[in-house]
Amino acid sequence: MNEHDSERMAGILESQGFVPAASAEDAEMVILNTCSIRDKAEQKFYSELGRLAHLKGRGGNKVTIAVAGCIAQQEGEKLLSRTPSVDMVIGPSDIARLSAMIEKKRDLGRPVVETGGDPEYHRRLVPASRTDGLKAWVSIMYGCDNFCTYCVVPYLRGRERSRPPRDIVAEVRVLGEQGYREITLLGQNVNSYGKGLQEPCTFPELLRRVQDADGIERVRFVTSHPRDLSDALIDAIRDLTKVCESIHLPVQSGADRVLASMNRRYTSAEYRDKVQKLRKAVPDMVITTDIIVGFPGETADDFACTLRLLQEVEYDNIFAFKYSKRTHTKALGIPGHLAEEVKEERLAQVLELQKGISLRKNEHHIGSVQEVLVEGASKKGGMLTGRTRGNKSVNFPGPVHLRGSLVNVRIIAAGPNSLSGELCV
Ligand code: SF4
Repeated sequence: MNEHDSERMAGILESQGFVPAASAEDAEMVILNTCSIRDKAEQKFYSELGRLAHLKGRGGNKVTIAVAGCIAQQEGEKLLSRTPSVDMVIGPSDIARLSAMIEKKRDLGRPVVETGGDPEYHRRLVPASRTDGLKAWVSIMYGCDNFCTYCVVPYLRGRERSRPPRDIVAEVRVLGEQGYREITLLGQNVNSYGKGLQEPCTFPELLRRVQDADGIERVRFVTSHPRDLSDALIDAIRDLTKVCESIHLPVQSGADRVLASMNRRYTSAEYRDKVQKLRKAVPDMVITTDIIVGFPGETADDFACTLRLLQEVEYDNIFAFKYSKRTHTKALGIPGHLAEEVKEERLAQVLELQKGISLRKNEHHIGSVQEVLVEGASKKGGMLTGRTRGNKSVNFPGPVHLRGSLVNVRIIAAGPNSLSGELCV
């Protein structure tokens, strides 16, 4: 989400005549697009801001420092008093006002703040400066209505708003004409796309409409809330040829008590049922998930439920994190916050368990032929890298001019994080 917001801010700046600088030292303006989903991300921002502040003023350096993203939204005006080197503070739903803010800052000669949230942002056509040329993010909605008790998103990115389907389809068509081969539809909860639209459209319908775009070969989407994963969406994944067989379906915990406390609004049995339906409809489905360990009140038994769920579902990959205290969120007030060592120990256990599962899942592909979208030269010299329809990374020998092609690759080896193969001729 943030990467794509950065593309949009770059698009606005380029439309104003700005060009990318080689480094912050050479730049006239630096935007720090921030994340506050976990404490670690926030700390990284403050240390980078300190580095930039040090740069400013040195040798007459007049760089404009802007802070965007969730920390900007969370801190607003307070950022200016805390860090006087900041010139602009811009919330995630105020991105379309960037040009006006730059002018205002020039005219007034003092810092400007925009965090009020543009109520029409989801209807605005904001340019994006994409550099990949092959794979593109396309936002389909903003905000979230779910209020999971650990999450800051609904407070910082606002309530759920869906972009009009015709704007999304038009953007995807242009991307197809520009040579893009793969799009990823983005939203905090894409499965609930469509609420409040003047032109009614559900997420499965949207998938049907975008897959008609010429030139686009693959359609992905992220993120799906398990509660909103409907039978209609499962049918769409099964039937629509360009929609890839991979889904990120965050479970967060295997314990019903913890799920209820997180306000996830599904039980582990309901979640397992959805996974079964998915696998029945699409046997090759690649499923990944998010896990939070050490949520307040998580007992050893609760944690054992999570380990059991991982063993049963056998995800292809997981993104696991220790619970992190976030301002605004209800989880702060839930009793039973765990010691850091306990969270660390649980995280290590989860990651160790998953490493073996990921390896086994990848080894299943050995001997199979996978359709791979070639992304270019691999970091391993002389090799190409690309992704299967299931979004698995594959390295194989081949000529660089294949970048952008869909090729068949026979898988000959597997590690926990990637596959190796050879081109089929
Ligand atoms: S669904 Fe996702 S974005 Fe929305 S509140 Fe829950 S964790 Fe946050």
